[in-house]
Amino acid sequence: MTTDQEQTNTAESLSFKAEVQQVLHILAHSLYTDREIFLRELISNASDALNRIQFEMLTNRDVRDPEVELKIEINADKEARTLTISDTGTGMTRDELVEHLGTIAQSSARAFVQRAKQGEGSTNASEIIGQFGVGFYSVFMVADKVTVVSRSFRPDAEAAMWEATGGAEFVVGPAEREQRGTTITLHLKEDASDFADTWRIEQTIKRHSDFVAFPILVGEKQANQQKALWRRAPREVEADQYKELYRQLTLDMEEPLMQLHLSTDAPVDLHSILFFPSKRERGIIERRVEGKIKLYSRKVLIQEDARDLLPNYFRFIEGVVDSEDLPLNVSRESVQSSPVMQRIKKTLTSRLHRELNDLAEKDSAKFAAFWQEFGPFIKEGLVTDYESRNDLLKLLRFQTTTSGDDLTTLAAYKERLVEGQQEIYYVMGSTAEAARNSPHLDPFTARNIEVLLFTDLMDGYMLSSLREYEGLKLRNVDEADIALPGEAAGAEPQIDDAQFASLAERFAAVLGDRLKEVRASKVLRDSPARLVAGEADYGREMQRIQQLLGREAELQARVMELNPGHPLIAALARRAAEHADDPVVAAAAEQLYDNALLLEGLHQNPAAMVPRLLKLLEAAAGVNK
Ligand code: ADP
Repeated sequence: MTTDQEQTNTAESLSFKAEVQQVLHILAHSLYTDREIFLRELISNASDALNRIQFEMLTNRDVRDPEVELKIEINADKEARTLTISDTGTGMTRDELVEHLGTIAQSSARAFVQRAKQGEGSTNASEIIGQFGVGFYSVFMVADKVTVVSRSFRPDAEAAMWEATGGAEFVVGPAEREQRGTTITLHLKEDASDFADTWRIEQTIKRHSDFVAFPILVGEKQANQQKALWRRAPREVEADQYKELYRQLTLDMEEPLMQLHLSTDAPVDLHSILFFPSKRERGIIERRVEGKIKLYSRKVLIQEDARDLLPNYFRFIEGVVDSEDLPLNVSRESVQSSPVMQRIKKTLTSRLHRELNDLAEKDSAKFAAFWQEFGPFIKEGLVTDYESRNDLLKLLRFQTTTSGDDLTTLAAYKERLVEGQQEIYYVMGSTAEAARNSPHLDPFTARNIEVLLFTDLMDGYMLSSLREYEGLKLRNVDEADIALPGEAAGAEPQIDDAQFASLAERFAAVLGDRLKEVRASKVLRDSPARLVAGEADYGREMQRIQQLLGREAELQARVMELNPGHPLIAALARRAAEHADDPVVAAAAEQLYDNALLLEGLHQNPAAMVPRLLKLLEAAAGVNK
């Protein structure tokens, strides 16, 4: 046992956590194309530490060296083959050195190790480092020994050092250092000695760290422009710089779909770059998109993850918002309730809508890619953001019975209404193919009436606030009594009323309380049967959502319509007339019911159909039982 006193006065050797050891091993042995990114990682850590101390000092002056300049200094010694990176940020205590540099905080470490082992990225370490954010450890690509000396901003903290050579252990101990901050010394590997050249360092900073918000001094000279990217005029920013900023903010390997760069001083001072990711999921590390918006005020990072700057349905957006008008008073509540905040939110939201509508007009393929990933969020917005309704309505896209793979807007659908059509029709299904096979479509197809395909989980939810569009009611094709324009009779009956009645009776007996009624259809043409709903049964859209979410939803009893003009129904009627308890008739009743549920995406357990299908196949093949 050591006392606290002893512990701070002596050096000790500790083991890296297993995942760090693996990462170090991989880094030290991988082939890399651009290992210069280690410098970017260290500068980014220094800049984070500077941000944190700046934030701390907004409310707390009781820190070490409150007056010291916030900056990053880089010095190289070509002879000694060393490189030092110093900052005046928060610094770290001995315990913090152990905790932060001895373990990997991110749960991504395991994924990193796995990926690297599979050999997927082993030839390009920078790619995996970028993706998994192993940050600090990237120094071991260029150094065989790293010494960190740090002193925390807390007035009572002593200086401490940390040292490692890329093996399984590191050393921590006391150190001499007066000033707050951190100095990292790299003892460069022989084949990495060029990183002790000033020009090489400057060039690397230009390429990767030019817009870091604090001065980076190489020797006496400032090497970065320092002006934040979002504070520059959009025309001065190059496409690659946006990509680099996006990568740094998100660790997303894919390029963003697009970005919105806004720099204005009216109605509010607002400098912002917002990114649309290209994918909803970010692969192995993060399964779910929750974008993060960093909020700066007067060059100080005041929130890492500002939640109230955009409406919730834009939560997949990532980026930076910076405004001089925000009060530097940092308590979350006061920022949130600030009227400036509301104005920023309004401005950003309407710009995002405009940007999306522009994209839809100018680049429909790119918009389709956006819609594919983020359409459900826009539908959510339609329900939750009433004020933006008109903007959001313009963004909606659907496949239809006649669109093939293309998407249509509601406005375009409206242009194509047939003569006398006064409603917008939709059919629900788990996929476009299922929806297109819906028996409910018979009378619509017969009249050339286009029907929207609602195949997305969010469609049902969206309907709760999209009951009509420009005076046209939205109607589910499964409703019983839809009056359609024009003539198109159902199929000619092939059986008489008495035959039909006995079949209907049989179906009703087999299906029991799953049905309200069995009756002859007046509208079916090519399909044998359908389940209709009364107008009052709305809720089935919601039921489908429950179903898709994997919750048991109780199915409402429905009306089954049979097509007396369909050869299958006619044949079944004849069989039922001969043998009231013909097992084929019973199995057919069950199967027709299941088919209907299946096409609507409401079937709870399709595998349960298999034994029955087998029996039906046996009957069809003439097997006698
Ligand atoms: P990340 O930066 O992604 O968290 P790193 O491995 O690069 O991962 O760094 C681990 C942690 O070490 C940081 O989160 C931070 O708490 C601490 N750290 C690293 N460099 C510094 C520094 N220059 N000043 C203060 N703390 C630092």
